[in-house]
Amino acid sequence: MNTLHRIDGRLHLEDVALDTLAERFGTPLYVYSRAALESAYRAYAEAFAATPHLICYAVKANSSLAILNLFARLGAGFDIVSGGELARVLAAGGDAGKVVFSGVGKTANEMRAALDAGILCFNLESESELHRLDRVAGDMGKVAPVSFRVNPDVDPKTHPYISTGLKENKFGVPIAEAPALYRLAASLPNLKVTGVDCHIGSQLTDLSPLADAADRVLDLVDTLAADGIALRHIDLGGGVGIRYRDETPPDLAAYGRVLAQKFAGRREKLLLEPGRSLVGNAGLLLTRVEYLKPGEDKNFAIVDAAMNDLMRPALYEAYHEIVAVGERTVPARRYDIVGPICETGDFLGFARDLAIEEGDLLALLSAGAYGMSMASNYNSRPRAAEILIDKNEIHLVRERETLDQLLAGERLVY
Ligand SMILES: *Cc1c(COP(=O)(O)O)cnc(C)c1O
Repeated sequence: MNTLHRIDGRLHLEDVALDTLAERFGTPLYVYSRAALESAYRAYAEAFAATPHLICYAVKANSSLAILNLFARLGAGFDIVSGGELARVLAAGGDAGKVVFSGVGKTANEMRAALDAGILCFNLESESELHRLDRVAGDMGKVAPVSFRVNPDVDPKTHPYISTGLKENKFGVPIAEAPALYRLAASLPNLKVTGVDCHIGSQLTDLSPLADAADRVLDLVDTLAADGIALRHIDLGGGVGIRYRDETPPDLAAYGRVLAQKFAGRREKLLLEPGRSLVGNAGLLLTRVEYLKPGEDKNFAIVDAAMNDLMRPALYEAYHEIVAVGERTVPARRYDIVGPICETGDFLGFARDLAIEEGDLLALLSAGAYGMSMASNYNSRPRAAEILIDKNEIHLVRERETLDQLLAGERLVY
């Protein structure tokens, strides 16, 4: 879907010129394309059409209400990792009955909120959590639907910080220990075993670890069935990568065919938890060049966006393509694109050749996932506004945070 394009040299998202957005709403500014979000969702729905399935969008990738609402209306379920994300899903009109709750550290309060809402499943990650949930559900007179997140110990071949399916990670329970945990869960009065899940990592560019993980999980499901524990769903997590630079992300249709084969003749429903691949390429971050600072070894372009707005470069040395929004006749120079934050790690891109002047606008591409949802107030910087473009319509879906909001809730001590 080519939602980003130039008309007379000016960069547009769908039918809207990005420079007009910067004038009207200021920068830094996140901008999303409705068409790109919806086409990413439809690509999943089509790829897995042959297998009864539910797509549970991983809310942490981008938790803006407008985006959750768009996906809810397309029929999505949601993968949440906190009580805050549950509140967002409900506020956005999401169906609690399609929510799975992941995460290694669910509190009793979060469990109560999710039981009250009536979620589809708790994805448990430890034996202690199992006992806590049994107690909390018992106190409420409810039965909690559960699955175990198993760790299939496959190498997803991605960045170590976003690899989650290896033995040494904090996530999940070792797949070899799962049968005993399932027997324990089945024996507890306030739990109902309904599924199994795994999530081996993020930004995977290779299908084979996903297929290997699926095989190991399906073997476990068969072992459990032989033990008299029948599951209703098999959740294979998220992790499908996107193109930031020159990666070749897995072909969803191929993934769909692989799973269709593996699920043929099975009774369990397939659940998927895609995050990045639904939103990553549907958004960009607009920023303005404040200063150009030429140097002997390096030139810096100091922009008004920073690591608090988009943390991925600082956190994972992630690459985002950076393009000028307008076209200039000045000669291109090589710049490090850095923010104003007082950290050497505050960079957005290194050694980029750009023909720019002070005051120009830049777009950081593929910033729809793990951008705004990771934004912070470091250096007391209010968080950016968010815009959703729908053809030629411009929707301000989150106002820029104000300084009053930034200081609200704090007290002096006398
Ligand atoms: C983060 C996460 C996802 C989404 O991962 P993506 O790489 O964004 O698709 C899915 N499931 C769980 C449990 C997660 O923690």
